Amino acid sequence: MLAYNFRSVCSICGEREFSFREILWPELVAAWQLSPLEVNYINRQQGFCCAACGNSLRCMALAAAILCTYNFSGTLAQFVESDFGKTLKVLEINEAGGLSPALKKLPNHQLVQYPEYDMTNLSLKSETFDLVIHSDTLEHVPNPERALSECGRVLRSNGKCIFTVPVIVDRMTRSRSGLSPSYHGQPGVPAEDQLVCTEFGADIWQTVLKAGFCSCEIFSHEYPAALVMIARK
Ligand SMILES: [Zn+2]
Repeated sequence: MLAYNFRSVCSICGEREFSFREILWPELVAAWQLSPLEVNYINRQQGFCCAACGNSLRCMALAAAILCTYNFSGTLAQFVESDFGKTLKVLEINEAGGLSPALKKLPNHQLVQYPEYDMTNLSLKSETFDLVIHSDTLEHVPNPERALSECGRVLRSNGKCIFTVPVIVDRMTRSRSGLSPSYHGQPGVPAEDQLVCTEFGADIWQTVLKAGFCSCEIFSHEYPAALVMIARK
């Protein structure tokens, strides 16, 4: 049975009203050398939001990927209250956008955040979690492969790491080292934890497999605006 039916409904709260605003600003578009098509889909990924719970398309995609992975035919709000959800041991690395309030209702949920926790050297026991979640964090980490291998280390066997990063689908991944510093967040407000280290492209699956995962599924909530990586240990 295909449980996935969230293309017209918010996968987090179940409402059907949405809003949209443009997120990217000219300096960021220039730094990333984005085409008009790429500007459109990134704006949609970050600026198309549920009018009820405020979650962006990126977060709705992440929730939909989690629900689909566990073949759960309800919203994330229902999932966290379900008997199955209660059994799941979940690690959230940095707050996964607006998913965080729902995830915190899981009884076996742990949130770790930068800078107390370094994603490339997690002070957490190996083979502890069933699911590791992060959202638009990996592009800010200097060594994303090492960060993913840490996610794999803390997962139990058959565990999954489900995450989003901004992906420019018509390009290969490139490091921004040697390029002018580029920041997410807000225009004109450079914050060191918002510095972008890697721009991910069509070969993102390589970073996942090099980190030691046995598979990398690319889940499409909406192509190319809302893609989610599902990495299996
Ligand atoms: Zn919603």
